Amino acid sequence: MRKFKALSFLLICILMIATFTVGCGAKEERLAVATGGTSGVYYPLGGAFANIITEKVDGVTANAESTGASVENVNLLNNGDVDFAMVQNDISYYAFNGIEMFQDKEAMTNLRGLATLYPETIQIVAAGSANIKSVEDLKGKRVAVGAPGSGTEANARQILAAYGLTYDDIEADYLSFGEAADNLKDGHIQAAFVTAGTPTAAITDLSTTHNVNLVPIPSNKAQELISDYPYYAEVTIPAGTYKNQDEDVSAVAVMAMLTVRADLEDDVVYEITKALFENLDSLSAAHARGGDVNIDKALNGMSLEVHPGAQRYYNEAK
Ligand code: GLU
Repeated sequence: MRKFKALSFLLICILMIATFTVGCGAKEERLAVATGGTSGVYYPLGGAFANIITEKVDGVTANAESTGASVENVNLLNNGDVDFAMVQNDISYYAFNGIEMFQDKEAMTNLRGLATLYPETIQIVAAGSANIKSVEDLKGKRVAVGAPGSGTEANARQILAAYGLTYDDIEADYLSFGEAADNLKDGHIQAAFVTAGTPTAAITDLSTTHNVNLVPIPSNKAQELISDYPYYAEVTIPAGTYKNQDEDVSAVAVMAMLTVRADLEDDVVYEITKALFENLDSLSAAHARGGDVNIDKALNGMSLEVHPGAQRYYNEAK
């Protein structure tokens, strides 16, 4: 009898320890959010998203990581190296379908959509002294085309091509937004491509101390680009977005989106999507474009299959 009691006691202890350990394990689910360079918009907004997860979702913590942005991010997400990623909707579409810059790779079928967020304008900023008024004027100039692994870099190639130019016609430098701004300041480069929500910190900073101008993409060129790349849209960079920008500037834009790996549990994605839309004020506090995020528009421009956990939240919230 005594032996039996001792055994039961032991068994209960083991069970309790096991439950506790499993409980603690669940508490410690750590997720990673791939963003972009520190002077872009992905970084502060991805950071705000990670904080929402840590603060509002039980048993989960999240960290935002700085990366080269969209193209690097789809690779990281598809490989399961991160759980969420900020990505341009054009790039995620190409990656999922194995086309454009991904045509020699296997389709990245582990990518799912969580929400589209805000427009990312393809801005071409030029040093005032270089007298660059149109994309054609970039010929022979030293131009920052985005960080290696960025969506910006893909957009730079596409836009140059619309004007019959390639990297053979310019001196292309693969620089992050922050590096591009520094190189424009000290005259090492004459222009930079920046695909990001406006105002972009790197350009704001540059325009307060240096004479720069934005190079327009006129409507006829925008339409040509849209027929080749359907995720492009025509937009205007309103006068006053940057210091000494007196006029509206025509441009093209894509959408920033939050993506998630397909194999992240539905319940976790549901809770995170819910927490995101219940705490949008933290996003608008992190950057002006965070204020664009809206549940009614969260599937506009969605270029991936929506994760079932996120879809469950959208169905419920309708
Ligand atoms: N859309 C940019 C890219 O993928 C990054 C924008 C940002 O960092 O805010 O290259």
